[in-house]
Amino acid sequence: MTEKIYNLIIIGSGPAGYTAAIYAARADLAPLMIEGVNRGGVAGGQLMWTTEVENFPGFPEGIQGPELMELMKKQSVRFGTEIISEDVVKVDFSSQPLKMETGDGKTYLAHSVIIATGSSAKWLGLESENKLKGFGVSACATCDGAFFRDKKVVIVGGGDAAMEEANFLTKFAKEVTVLVRKGEVEVKASSIMYQRAKKNPKIKFLYNIEVVDIADPAQKKVTSVTLKNNIDNTTSEFPTEGVFVAIGHRPNTEVFAGQLNLDRVGYIEIKDGHKTNVEGVFAAGDVHDYFYRQAITAAGAGCQAALEAQRFLAEKEHQG
Ligand code: NDP
Repeated sequence: MTEKIYNLIIIGSGPAGYTAAIYAARADLAPLMIEGVNRGGVAGGQLMWTTEVENFPGFPEGIQGPELMELMKKQSVRFGTEIISEDVVKVDFSSQPLKMETGDGKTYLAHSVIIATGSSAKWLGLESENKLKGFGVSACATCDGAFFRDKKVVIVGGGDAAMEEANFLTKFAKEVTVLVRKGEVEVKASSIMYQRAKKNPKIKFLYNIEVVDIADPAQKKVTSVTLKNNIDNTTSEFPTEGVFVAIGHRPNTEVFAGQLNLDRVGYIEIKDGHKTNVEGVFAAGDVHDYFYRQAITAAGAGCQAALEAQRFLAEKEHQG
């Protein structure tokens, strides 16, 4: 028996993956989506960890992140996307058909692949942080800043993202305290971003500071953070109503190392639209985009990648 070769396999199930699936399924490509389950045990990408989403067009009253993903999933299935709940653990893109192996040991073959595995925000790794995600703890100021109008918030990190998000948060919050684990002269952010944040009267900085706990999971809201001064090891309570973690992102590309061109940090390099260095393999969303990182831009990228895959398949058939 010959193994089935899919026209298109989509790896990943965030806004980029589902949008690619909707377009591909409507183009009669009968795509397979390998939705990925290992990032926190659920498929659906980073929006599964947010509460209210207010900036996705079409939902004037806002929508819960998990609900938005469920709707996207339904829409992709409606047009014939087949979905399996597994992680891709190995790929072989060295020749056609492209090969993918999942965690249960099965191999899937396809003429084209869209990688939409996204990126993961880095977290501090505290139990309290995990319990309060979506309840005052966030890794995305653009997404959640507006919920902190006239509140006091802290932001953890000393890179450009922390500076940019601190400035953004001052549109809403009455006070933003940036918690930097290094000293004042060792701050990682570029000078221009750092100076801009320092000039903002609503932003304060605390240096040589690490967050060791967040209160209060029992109340399902943030009331304070426990700070440790890493010079003298003293701890103190710092009242706050929100914690933004901006300590970097990690693209979910480990499985593609050695198969695709990745940049220094691990993001997939794309050219001429959404093409990777392997013919027939495309990338969409946060897995290549470290700049915009929005659900709507990922969805747009998913659409573009699906159109490119469609064209690739049509040309291939024509040549074959
Ligand atoms: P970075 O890796 O540049 O910075 C991460 C920051 O988080 C560092 O200050 C680091 O501290 C700190 N950090 C890491 N782990 C912890 C921890 N466990 N506890 C406390 N602090 C921690 O990441 P960014 O997301 O800021 O930026 C990523 C890239 O994107 C960079 O190249 C940046 O320039 C770019 N960027 C550009 C922007 C722009 O130009 N507008 C905006 C946003 C990002 P330490 O220094 O001690 O390691």
